[in-house]
Amino acid sequence: MAIKIYIDQGHGPGVNAGAEGFGLLEQDITYMVGSYLADIFRLDDRFEVKTSRNSITENIGFNSSSSLRLRVNEANNWPADYFISIHCNASVNTSANGTEGYIYSTPSTAYDLSKSIVEEIVRRTGTKNNGIFTNPSLYVLRYTEMPATLIELAYISNFNDAVKLSSDQYQFAFGIYQGVLNYLGLNISDAVISMLGND
Ligand SMILES: [Zn+2]
Repeated sequence: MAIKIYIDQGHGPGVNAGAEGFGLLEQDITYMVGSYLADIFRLDDRFEVKTSRNSITENIGFNSSSSLRLRVNEANNWPADYFISIHCNASVNTSANGTEGYIYSTPSTAYDLSKSIVEEIVRRTGTKNNGIFTNPSLYVLRYTEMPATLIELAYISNFNDAVKLSSDQYQFAFGIYQGVLNYLGLNISDAVISMLGND
């Protein structure tokens, strides 16, 4: 039976817009990285995947809280085996940079998964590893019924990170895929390897 991965591309245009920096919009980056990630998982028949947003202009919900609730409900109703929410960080301190993961509690399956994903993103994109933090107040971590992690890919408010968020989106996606595989003790599928060879 395939492992079901729910990919939540954080935010969206309109009611639940994310952070901005250097002309980049968080919701566009999360959409693209999540879509690349879904494309990779769809090549690997050990997985099934759903994405929260199906186009870059799709608006989920009528305000921020309903937007989060609809994503979580879809994952719970499927039901997904793992929930990965993709975000970009932002800070008024423009030197703040790096990749971090958030989970509901530790020790947990989600902690191990999140750590594996962050390590692989850092290895592929050269961001700083800020580690894994618990934050039980985050809606998508609190109300999901499966292991869930929110990944802050990098800081949209930091110039060097913003360049990576703009130009290395596929590497962020591949890092998440590889991180999931590492956590599960699986090798890259032949179909994904042959796709890489055709680039
Ligand atoms: Zn966000």
